[in-house]
Order: sequence, then C-alpha cells, then structure tokens
Amino acid sequence: MTSDISVPEIPAARPVTHVPPVVEEVLAPGEQDVLTERIKALLVERDAVLVAHYYTSGALQKLAEETGGCVSDSLEMARFGHAAKAKTLVVAGVRFMGETAKILNPEKRVLMPDPRAECSLDLSCPADAFSAFCDAHPDRVVVVYANTSAAVKARADWMVTSSIAVQVVAHLHALGKKLIWAPDRYLGDYVQKITGADMLLWQGSCVVHEKFKAEGIRALKAQYADAAVLVHPESPASVIALADVVGSTTQLIRAAAELPQQTLIVATDNGIFHKMHLVTPGKTLLEAPTGGAGATCVSCAHCPWMAMNGLRGLLHVLESGDNEIHVDPGIGRRAVVAINRMLQFAGQTGVTVAGMSGD
Ligand code: SF4
Repeated sequence: MTSDISVPEIPAARPVTHVPPVVEEVLAPGEQDVLTERIKALLVERDAVLVAHYYTSGALQKLAEETGGCVSDSLEMARFGHAAKAKTLVVAGVRFMGETAKILNPEKRVLMPDPRAECSLDLSCPADAFSAFCDAHPDRVVVVYANTSAAVKARADWMVTSSIAVQVVAHLHALGKKLIWAPDRYLGDYVQKITGADMLLWQGSCVVHEKFKAEGIRALKAQYADAAVLVHPESPASVIALADVVGSTTQLIRAAAELPQQTLIVATDNGIFHKMHLVTPGKTLLEAPTGGAGATCVSCAHCPWMAMNGLRGLLHVLESGDNEIHVDPGIGRRAVVAINRMLQFAGQTGVTVAGMSGD
C-alpha cells in the first residue's frame, strides 16, 4: 500500500513578520549613576546575580562585571548561574537565554529585564510545526541550535552551540546518522559543508547576521587591505567565504585579541564591540556593512530584541519580581537531556562549548 501523505523535504520556517526597530535606552544626565547604585544595592538585597550577553549595552555588561556577575554567551550565562550561590538570576539577553538558564537551574528564580525580548531564530521555529516535521522523519537524529524555545529543545536529541556544532554533527555523521537541523539555515549550511552530513535544514535565520553583505566587506577590504575579517556563522555563505576566522561570539573575541592584524572587520552584532575593544587595545575595529548605500534593514548589525534590555527594566524587575521566566517542569526535564548530551560530548572530547549564537 502506498501513502498519499507527502512530506516536504525542506521545512518552511514560520516567517518572522514583525521585527521591531532598534531602540536604545536613552537616559537623562546623571540617571545612569542613580540607576546603577540602586541596582547594585538591590542585587545584594535580593540575593541576585546579573548575567548579561555580549550583545547587550556596554552599561549592562559593565554592571554585570562590577557586581560579580558574568558577561558571556548564553550557555555560559546559564552555567555561571548554576555555579553562582545567588537564588535569583537576572538574565539580560533574549527569552531563550532566560529559558536555558531556568532549564539548567530549575530551583532558582530567573528574571529578565524585558519580556518582549525575543529572537528571530526562536520565533521561526514553533514547537508544534517543528515537532510535526520531526515526526515525519523518524529516521533522523534531531539537532537544534541553542536559539530555540524550551519546547523545541525538549523535542530534540541534541542541543548544540555554534562553537561545538561542527564536532557534534561530524560525530553523528561518522556514526552513519542522518539529521534534522534547526533553526538557522546559514549555520546549518556551514556545518553541512564542513562535515558532509545528510541534514534537512529548517529555514530560519537571524535578522542581524543575514544582513551582512559580501560586497560591502569586499569594499572595506579594498580600503583596509591588511584587515582580518571575523564572521559569525549565522551569516550568509558569501560572507563566511570572506572570513579569516569563523566562530561563535566567544571565539571571535578570542581571535580579535590573538590575531596579529591591527584592523579587524567584524560581522556580528555590534554589541560585541564593548568586550572586543577591552581585549584589543590599540586595534581598529570596523563593523561589517549590512546593506551598503540605501540599506533597508531595520536591525543593521544590532539585535532589536537585545536592545530592549536596559537599566530601567533591570531595576524594575529587581524591585517588583516581574518578568519571571517559567518552564514547564516536564519540558525542562526533556530539554535538559539534549543540553546535557552536548555537555557530556564536550567533556569527553575536550571541545569548548562556550560561544552560543550570535549568541
Ligand atoms: S542577534 Fe541573536 S538574539 Fe538577535 S535575532 Fe539574531 S540570533 Fe536572535
């Protein structure tokens, strides 16, 4: 008997129809000092620690480091929160980062400065549609990127960060496994080309990284011939092809410090420049062009959802306890299996997993 159910080989991601404009927090003269002093006191009073992503504002990153918190990629943020003694984690980042912190720290309270902070990759991959696609391909191992909801992680066999994706996929490929990969098509394509694995790619993308343009980088290279090009692998293949270094946020920061070149063209969210400037004194950092003349992108090299994190929101959640992140315990228990599989693999192989996504 033949089946009349046809399953698309290439899954359609949910289109992300609304990308908010980038709105940076604007503070009145002297307000930053007042806010930071109040926040510092409340972090102590509430037994809380601030963990901030590299793409948040310099003010938030500085505050996190000054108060014994951490600035990192999302997985390291969650791991730091696990090791921290504080009972409350305040996650300055986007929703999936808060969820990952909660999954790894179910006994702790997780707060976020702004509940509207999403991620286009997460939004492109709703759990119900993704689960149906996985169900239609039961012969494939399901590998998802960190930039996904708790429910999508719960449906996966593995969760990976950008810094370990190649190694995990190569490992599964060597075992003869065929894969489903979600949600970032550019990172999936990059991993597929390196490993040669059989991968069905979900067609999501990052609204920031997909805007980088190869022709703009070439033009910049014509001006700065000695510059090195650093690219996050959520960028299009034509941009990755121009890179001297391809890597996660943590890997790009490390490369910026270690490379001999004094001028660096960087294709990732420009929030990374706060940390990159600190580790590259004297070097010139250039933002990779996103659209050239007449660009229409609303998120030119900066994530609009990351920009929603501000000092006012941070103070508000510390005062009120609002914006707490909850993860269904059953989903959390399944999601942590996929995360732990990666962590165990990293432990066995010595691969560093720090460096999540764009994030
Ligand atoms: S920059 Fe990061 S958080 Fe923002 S849309 Fe892209 S992947 Fe998501």
